[in-house]
Amino acid sequence: MTDRQGDTAYPEIRTAVREICGRFGDVYWREQDRLRRYPSEFVDALTSAGWLAALIPERYGGSGLGVAEASVVLEEIQRQGGNAAACHAQMYVMGTLLRHGSEEQKERYLPAIASGKLRLQAFGVTEPTAGSETTRIQTSAVRKGDRYVVNGQKIWTSRFEQSDLMLLLARTTPYDELEDKTKGLSVFVVDLRTAGDHIEARPIQAMVNHSTNEVFIRDLEVPAGDRIGEEGMGFRYIIDGWNAERILIAAECVGDARWFIDRAAAYAKARVVFGRPIGQNQGVQFPIAKAHTATEAADLMRWKAARLFDAGDPCGPEANMAKYLASEASWEAANVCLDTHGGFGFAAEYDVERKFRETRLYKVAPINNNLVLAYVAQHVLGLPKSY
Ligand SMILES: Cc1cc2nc3c(=O)[nH]c(=O)nc-3n(C[C@H](O)[C@H](O)[C@H](O)COP(=O)(O)OP(=O)(O)OC[C@H]3O[C@@H](n4cnc5c(N)ncnc54)[C@H](O)[C@@H]3O)c2cc1C
Repeated sequence: MTDRQGDTAYPEIRTAVREICGRFGDVYWREQDRLRRYPSEFVDALTSAGWLAALIPERYGGSGLGVAEASVVLEEIQRQGGNAAACHAQMYVMGTLLRHGSEEQKERYLPAIASGKLRLQAFGVTEPTAGSETTRIQTSAVRKGDRYVVNGQKIWTSRFEQSDLMLLLARTTPYDELEDKTKGLSVFVVDLRTAGDHIEARPIQAMVNHSTNEVFIRDLEVPAGDRIGEEGMGFRYIIDGWNAERILIAAECVGDARWFIDRAAAYAKARVVFGRPIGQNQGVQFPIAKAHTATEAADLMRWKAARLFDAGDPCGPEANMAKYLASEASWEAANVCLDTHGGFGFAAEYDVERKFRETRLYKVAPINNNLVLAYVAQHVLGLPKSY
């Protein structure tokens, strides 16, 4: 029987993605990090090989694969030392369009996204004041005839400069007028190529090279035909994408964790101090073994969630738990790898400090782990809502 989970599942996808990653080694990623540069060549290579269109159905030019397969693509990029954050959003942002877009919108956008002609990498949800409380966002879209006029501010809008399209969540009904506070928000596909000076992006210099921005929107006109689905249902549509997002992020974390463990184990075998390999000391080997154990457990939850998702079954608890376990495991592995390398862990040329910074993000974004635990407490354990 073919192994359909674990780090040997889908060997054909792994081999193909590894081949691409092999062209972009440690030196490449180190340079992108040092220069805070977007890895365009890597994203182009991945796009032209069709991997970023994994989740787009074949009839729109994609490969029609499931979240399980897509997650392997992202896992492998991390495992090889790369950073899928440069392009992962295209996989899950596009899901909103796929699930809730009209046939006309899908025909208009998906084949061009699949071929790489159009890039849908940017996702404008987070705002400075609302933070994790998405239903409090203030960016407004006011209907004027066949258009909406959008005004407001987003923050942490990643890959804005590298996108042709941005999925934007904006308020179409004032918060105070709503009985159900989860309504009143709508999703739009914004064509950034024609937005002119109605949108201004200011890059945020962050701990990780993430091409992320503050975005100011002033009197931007968006055709009503670019609203996805029903007016006022945008928050629901975004939530629908969260399970896939959680599973894909979990897979990235598993890939990171394995990279850290591979590097830590290799270094612990090679580095000789006090006349023996440092890995001969239990104080060095046990933390690596613990991180490996946590990673393998997290991976099982990732596969469980992916299977449920691809079968069309409910998977909220599993997707959330997978994201939590995997992001904690990758952070544990990152710390262990740094400790194992001693002072050299801090030297850029070992890549540990870069990956250490990169993987830390996933305990906070796209959703912080406190809110994941709040979900589990409330929806799995039936505890009172805490926020
Ligand atoms: C590098 C980077 C890239 C990003 N890219 C994007 C992007 O492309 N698009 C986008 O829309 N957003 C993006 N984000 C935003 C990201 O999704 C948010 O930062 C994240 O959801 C947390 O929101 P916040 O920063 O406003 O934290 P806050 O909501 O202000 O929370 C701060 C901390 O308080 C804690 N907290 C808050 N409320 C509760 C509660 N009720 N119970 C317990 N603890 C709580 C959490 O632990 C949290 O870490 C990005 C962020 C970063 C750092």
